[in-house]
Amino acid sequence: MTDPLRELQEKIVLACRILAMEGLVKDILGHVSARIPDSNEMWIRCRSPEEEGLRYTNTDVIRRVDFDGKGPLLGENYQLPNEFAIHGEIYKSRLDVGCVIHAHPEAALICGIADLEFQPIFGAFNIPAMRLALQGIPVFARSFLMTRPEMVAPMIHIMGEKRVCLMRGHGITVIGETVEEATVRALNFDLLARMTLQVAQTGRKARAIDQEDIQELPDLGSTFNDLWVWRYYVKKLQDEDCR
Ligand SMILES: [Zn+2]
Repeated sequence: MTDPLRELQEKIVLACRILAMEGLVKDILGHVSARIPDSNEMWIRCRSPEEEGLRYTNTDVIRRVDFDGKGPLLGENYQLPNEFAIHGEIYKSRLDVGCVIHAHPEAALICGIADLEFQPIFGAFNIPAMRLALQGIPVFARSFLMTRPEMVAPMIHIMGEKRVCLMRGHGITVIGETVEEATVRALNFDLLARMTLQVAQTGRKARAIDQEDIQELPDLGSTFNDLWVWRYYVKKLQDEDCR
């Protein structure tokens, strides 16, 4: 019988490796966590002395800690991310959040630096990515390393009910109810950022699609939007790792 806690831990491994495979995180920067249900604890991607980067994440570096960053074997054996507070503070303040991803993807970074506006510039091409733009992407304007809880509070405030935050000159924070949902959302936001950036690079101004077309676009549901996409990336990862 599978242990749900171990399964959750394993999903974080997969999320880290998928985000690295798809270029949202490079080398050793970025981290993923998941709330352990009915507790004030999470699984979070830490670092060990054998650190080799997100692409090569293994289960042993996914550690169980409370929302203040306390847990067994931390310190000598495992190091929490420097920006652990992003995870702890979000779980404390938003009970609906089951997964937090923090990454430094380049396209989103450049969009933030260049002040490019995220608009629903495409429709059926990728409906969930379009909806992210439609809902609006909050921008947190400070570029510091979020090493203390009080630094995170203003970002949480700016995010409100939204699930993606662009941190100007820094990176992104993406949340979701599940690891699968948050991971696919991060991938979708990266796609939106890459498209926004590429359109800007043509020198033409991006224009939002018609409201009428937006209204015609269906919600295809979370199985279609998240689960199947997640499974595709898990499979792709396995294929890459077998080569
Ligand atoms: Zn960061």
